[in-house]
Amino acid sequence: MKNITVIGAGTMGNGIAHIFAMNDFNVTLVDISEQALEKAIATIDKNLWRMVAKEKISEEDKTETIGKITTSTNLQEAVKNADLVVEAATEHEETKLNIFKQMDEFAPGDCILASNTSSISITKIASVTDRPSQVIGMHFMNPVPVMKLVEVIRGYATSDEVTSKIMEVSKQLGKVPVEVNDYPGFVANRILMPMINEAIYSLYENVAGVEEIDTVMKLGMAHPMGPLQLADFIGLDVCLAILDVLVDGFGNPKYAACPLLKKMVTAGKLGRKSGEGFYKYQEGSKNLTVAPTFVK
Ligand code: NAD
Repeated sequence: MKNITVIGAGTMGNGIAHIFAMNDFNVTLVDISEQALEKAIATIDKNLWRMVAKEKISEEDKTETIGKITTSTNLQEAVKNADLVVEAATEHEETKLNIFKQMDEFAPGDCILASNTSSISITKIASVTDRPSQVIGMHFMNPVPVMKLVEVIRGYATSDEVTSKIMEVSKQLGKVPVEVNDYPGFVANRILMPMINEAIYSLYENVAGVEEIDTVMKLGMAHPMGPLQLADFIGLDVCLAILDVLVDGFGNPKYAACPLLKKMVTAGKLGRKSGEGFYKYQEGSKNLTVAPTFVK
């Protein structure tokens, strides 16, 4: 594999482009928004400078990495010579199905089509293509250049050969791939989201405050970040959407989102990206302060 196309240049897409380029793949980064592409390149550039400053790479490596990435707003052109496409567009089912139909039509017949989806069924995505055996989940974690895990998700029809190629390419990126089957939430979110939901219930039922809950999990369970801070980091709307997928997929009310989570999403308190969730975020400040609603 040499030519990689990444669809979607947001939070995840820029990180995925970054690591492929750094490991000597030719990358085409695609977005519908020219502005998102410019922002992605600026972010990759900034992150590479940080690595130069830490002496993890040389300035020459940095220039070479940036030189490996081209950008495009034309998906059909951008997949024409791809060996692998990693789709990391907005988590919206219709959007993804539409992208996969186009990729199936315009990418070479032997190209593998991967999705970075957090919660949409790989089997469903594969079903809109004529190559379901070549469709697979490649679930990177945020921030992509830092986090070691790639959850490799086999859809119902994904072949052994395609799975082993994706396991191999993940290792070439310096990641640790883990193979899982396609069931709602895969493994990561099936386990993480109920924990986050339970932390929100503990706050909702006044068992303890925001900092207390996070401290118990940080110091008691050796988690680097408490569940409420992590929920803010992921985005509360994203957490709610994944819990909804778990409820729908398993038909089991144990996954039902806490009313407090639903209320916060309705109120636009989405966590770090909106400036407030369980904590309040100020541009440029690293201090973590509990959001006014939850100050006792
Ligand atoms: P984001 O909103 O930051 O970026 C999505 C990008 O996709 C945007 O730039 C948007 O313009 C672009 N886009 C939308 N429709 C498109 C189309 N038709 N063609 C090309 N580009 C299109 O989202 P994100 O957080 O980077 O998430 C991307 C994917 O990664 C989602 O499937 C999400 O579930 C998954 N994911 C996210 C995280 C996370 O922590 N953010 C972690 C793991 C997986």
